[in-house]
Amino acid sequence: MTVHGLFAKISPDSDSPREKPRIAIIGRGFSGIMMAIALMKSVRTAFHVHLFDPQPTISGGQVMAAAQSGEILNSRVRDLSVAAGQPEDFNDWLCANQDFRSAVSAAIPGFQQIFVPKSIFSDYVYQRFSEALTRRPDISMQLSCQAVLGLRKLPSGRFLVLQEEGSIECDVAVLATGFGIRALEMEVADDERPLVRARRLVVPRHAVLLGSGVRVVDRLLQMRDNGYAGEISAPDLKAPVIQNLFAGGLAQPDELGLGLAVSPAGEVLSDSHPTANLYAIGPLGLGSLPDIDLVPEIVTQTYAAARLIATRRRVTQKSA
Ligand SMILES: Cc1cc2nc3c(=O)[nH]c(=O)nc-3n(C[C@H](O)[C@H](O)[C@H](O)COP(=O)(O)OP(=O)(O)OC[C@H]3O[C@@H](n4cnc5c(N)ncnc54)[C@H](O)[C@@H]3O)c2cc1C
Repeated sequence: MTVHGLFAKISPDSDSPREKPRIAIIGRGFSGIMMAIALMKSVRTAFHVHLFDPQPTISGGQVMAAAQSGEILNSRVRDLSVAAGQPEDFNDWLCANQDFRSAVSAAIPGFQQIFVPKSIFSDYVYQRFSEALTRRPDISMQLSCQAVLGLRKLPSGRFLVLQEEGSIECDVAVLATGFGIRALEMEVADDERPLVRARRLVVPRHAVLLGSGVRVVDRLLQMRDNGYAGEISAPDLKAPVIQNLFAGGLAQPDELGLGLAVSPAGEVLSDSHPTANLYAIGPLGLGSLPDIDLVPEIVTQTYAAARLIATRRRVTQKSA
């Protein structure tokens, strides 16, 4: 399920969002949406969350809801719960889903062992996201449909989130930019199909894959499979937002140069110390943490980050 064109505050709230702690989540893929769910379930005090992504949609994750949504996820239902401490949550959701129950053999006692298409998982994630938001009328949420170009740390300790058309201040920033911005690189124009016009001199577009690891290889092979003949490269860490973090001394590359150096809870490290209130969730941590591009690991990491954010915000507010 995908909701289009929500650019304003989603939940009704009489408080001005400016008076609450502001959390910026950069990227509305699975990691970004999952981070929002974990925050709504873990941070007990009111806050304002701002979700940034040039893709004008909100769903259970762009990869999950995108063109390959019919593909089967390689994790079993039992490993895909987005509810901390409730490993049966996805199975329960499937059992309650009439359409799914009638489509899948009744002989299966529950669905814990099966593999499901990405689109079904995306619907589940989106529904849990919506429910979490409905239960928290004290939380306000705003969507922005521009790419984030950088983050600047202010003397106050807050961050300035830089976009082409202005900047927004926040207390906590969470990077969830995953495999980068999915522009039109998966589109294959007629004159880029290799065998169709082999004799015509064409210069196919150069596609850039951001990120690393097996998922990027997977994406690369899919592009080739779909006939994309242009140059494909994966220059890790070249995205403006990441370069800006390095330049500002807020982050450092991991030892392998694959992504950002992060702790298991997603704290971004600089000089081997966590940069206060800055987190990177999901594939950005591929060089630091094993399998952090997979759903179960991302879920665990978001709850760990949310717990830290909850604790640190409380401390900050008490001492203020
Ligand atoms: C082809 C493929 C198959 C997979 N199959 C499985 C599987 O079977 N099982 C499993 O567990 N996992 C699987 N995964 C892995 C898992 O789904 C991904 O790791 C997960 O979806 C990553 O989500 P993400 O939100 O971190 O990144 P992404 O899905 O890449 O989303 C990142 C988002 O950030 C946005 N963004 C990027 N840069 C900026 C910026 N500067 N400003 C604002 N927004 C920005 C992008 O537009 C995008 O929407 C697969 C991944 C891929 C690519």
